[in-house]
Amino acid sequence: MFNASMLINGSQVPALSGRTTEIRNPANQELVAEVPSGGRKDAEMALEAAKKAFPEWSLATSALRADLLHEAARLVRQRCEQIARLLTQEMGKPLKYSRLEVLSSADVLDYYAEEGKRNFGQWISSPRSRSIVLRQPVGVAALITPWNYPVDLLAWKVGPALAAGCTVVAKPPSIAPLAATEFMKAVNDAGLPGGVVNVVLGPGSEVGAELVENPISKKVAFTGETETGRWIMEHSARHLKRVSLELGGHSPFIVCEDADLDKAAAAGAIRAFSNMGQICISVNRIYVAQEIAGEFIEKFIERAGRLKIGNGLEQDVDLGPMASGSQRDKTREHVADALQKGARLLLGGREPDGAEYSKGYFYQPTVLSGVDHGMKVMREETFGPVAPITTFETVDQAIGLANDSQYGLASYVYTESLESAIYAAERLESGGVGININNVVDIQAPFGGWKQSGFGRELGRQGLDSYLELKHIRIGL
Ligand code: NAD
Repeated sequence: MFNASMLINGSQVPALSGRTTEIRNPANQELVAEVPSGGRKDAEMALEAAKKAFPEWSLATSALRADLLHEAARLVRQRCEQIARLLTQEMGKPLKYSRLEVLSSADVLDYYAEEGKRNFGQWISSPRSRSIVLRQPVGVAALITPWNYPVDLLAWKVGPALAAGCTVVAKPPSIAPLAATEFMKAVNDAGLPGGVVNVVLGPGSEVGAELVENPISKKVAFTGETETGRWIMEHSARHLKRVSLELGGHSPFIVCEDADLDKAAAAGAIRAFSNMGQICISVNRIYVAQEIAGEFIEKFIERAGRLKIGNGLEQDVDLGPMASGSQRDKTREHVADALQKGARLLLGGREPDGAEYSKGYFYQPTVLSGVDHGMKVMREETFGPVAPITTFETVDQAIGLANDSQYGLASYVYTESLESAIYAAERLESGGVGININNVVDIQAPFGGWKQSGFGRELGRQGLDSYLELKHIRIGL
């Protein structure tokens, strides 16, 4: 069994109260680890440590910060196997995808090591004065993350925060804290001064709330549910903290009449079911041109049926269990709601058969047709392996349906027509649009939401901006 600890001021520590909680593998309920369950006092200690470390770190050269971030990336790669196994054991995703997540988090650290060197200011000449504009770190940053990509989504915050000169306190998700904590230990082991990176484990309602409400943190970077984001925004307002919120999504996937159907079906099935649909940019609603709907659905179901379900530690598994019983319950509830309102079940709709699945939170990839926007699957975030499909007659109608959502994180369009692609991309209300590609994440480009999917951007140059304040220095002549 793995023994986890928190990281405060460069030391690995238990919770002040001595309390712990168990982490169990969602594939079979085996005990994976005992982790400290901290509270408000632990979070306050970590914030104090980050505050103490801030003056030195904020004034360090970008070259020094870059060297340390590159070293951190090297250590993360070196420890990839250990971190990836913990990730699979705590939240279920297949080991091959856990490895990719850990390696991608190292790439993010490398990217911001270099981007930090380009944190240039401005020089402005005026008639009787000169102005310098500095871009300086905002202060101690609280980083609060969810369980679906606990390592990567933390790297998206730690990389730019450290490159900007902020010190940080991270609050990994309660149900999957192990890999994120080991990732942060690797960052710390790169030789950062004590207190630059801290990790506190425990319930969001205590540890997370303290990080938001305590005036020491000057910035809260949050990824998680829209409701939690709303609470964070309200409580950050008291101290007018900088806030960035990456929240829920409900991504439409439009397949036009002229689309390459093999490509669209394969890409759609992967993005609807990988990570068991527990992705904020998962394909949640599929709109297919009426003329090609039959052919597309056939290909889509064939692709979905190929996916192998099992314990993520086994070889060649494509889909693991869902991360928790409550996630599976919500999926069941959404499928039942759709069927009761007249949807047709084309695939899945229940747990897989077999003793090997009996103790885990498994669920089959599920395809529904005959759906409409009165059903929960078409409105609320299922965060499960469900692909509801309906048809459209014109591209304008598809765009209207796609935009009929409170969310606006990602949208996808498959078409061979450049004109249709541009027409749709300009009209879709989301922070990212994928044209003939099923992923809108690129380390070098801004990622974030419109509408109730939040605001602020991570990744790319813009990811660094959100940890910086501007300062105008005016020199009289
Ligand atoms: P969640 O909101 O329940 O929890 C996220 C984090 O917030 C956890 O660490 C939790 O402990 C903490 N938290 C809970 N209450 C808090 C409070 N009052 N104050 C401070 N922190 C608190 O979300 P989740 O269930 O872990 O993750 C799933 C959600 O995340 C989905 O809605 C998904 O769409 C969203 N998500 C969004 C993105 C994106 O980039 N937009 C990416 C991944 C996941």
